[in-house]
Amino acid sequence: MTSLFPSNIHVQERGWLSANQIYIHNGQNVDVIDSGFCLHSQQTIDLLRFYLNQLPELRTRHLINTHLHSDHCGGNQALQEQFQFTCYVPESEYVSVQQWSLAEKSFLALGQPCPPFSAQHALKIGHTIQIGSIDFEIHGTPGHHPHSILLFAPDIGLLISADALWEKGFGALFSEVSNHTGFTEQRATLNLIRSLPVKVVIPGHGSPFTDIQASLSAAYSRLDFLESHPQRNTHHIAQVLLQFMVMFRQKLSLQEGLDWCINTPLFILSAAQLNLSIEELFLQTLEYLENKRCLTIKNDLIELHF
Ligand SMILES: [Zn+2]
Repeated sequence: MTSLFPSNIHVQERGWLSANQIYIHNGQNVDVIDSGFCLHSQQTIDLLRFYLNQLPELRTRHLINTHLHSDHCGGNQALQEQFQFTCYVPESEYVSVQQWSLAEKSFLALGQPCPPFSAQHALKIGHTIQIGSIDFEIHGTPGHHPHSILLFAPDIGLLISADALWEKGFGALFSEVSNHTGFTEQRATLNLIRSLPVKVVIPGHGSPFTDIQASLSAAYSRLDFLESHPQRNTHHIAQVLLQFMVMFRQKLSLQEGLDWCINTPLFILSAAQLNLSIEELFLQTLEYLENKRCLTIKNDLIELHF
């Protein structure tokens, strides 16, 4: 099988808790896109070290975040401690990273931890950035995250889509619960992607893929469904939030689970929009995730289903 990319691009595919890393070099320097979740930061370091051992002439240069969700930038601090990197974040997040309490607030809104890191540069929408030896356009893709960007390399038709488009779907539309803008923004994001001459996509989660038409058509169908069933979308947000928490905690009591919900602003907002109490939404969501075999509940203990 011929490779989907030039040989200076390497995709480090990760599980669902950590987003994929993409390494792109220019023969001297290697740039890294996204850093995974903090729980896996040792693995993130080990994977990069393994790669660098095979290409010892390379020096680490830029660490680039598509958006500030904890599964995409949770390994930043660890990578910055172990390697030399200058960090790029989307321009509209730059100030909040400088004043970490602002960034921390947005992680806490989702009930997710993210160790503090520093950013030296901003990714400006409408500008081009050279990553490794390849020029990428920077486009804004709100919907899943208000400040998320995608990277598109027109010379090779490569789209780095983060959570704006996966092979089968896209990231949860948190902006719909927080601002009632998620459906409109995600549609604009899909329209943008449809307008680009894409040949291959590296998503934030899952394997790279080339059948962009099939992905877009599935994504539009899902968006149509969610938009016509907004309550279903809000339940989905609650499910994604709770499932992610159980994935990183792995085992916790029912009371600890409820305490997490009570302290997670987006979960509270979801319950209010569904006219449910926080406890009702917690129990309904747990039952759904148990039926989907994402977790098990035994003797007041919630455990991740392996
Ligand atoms: Zn995300």
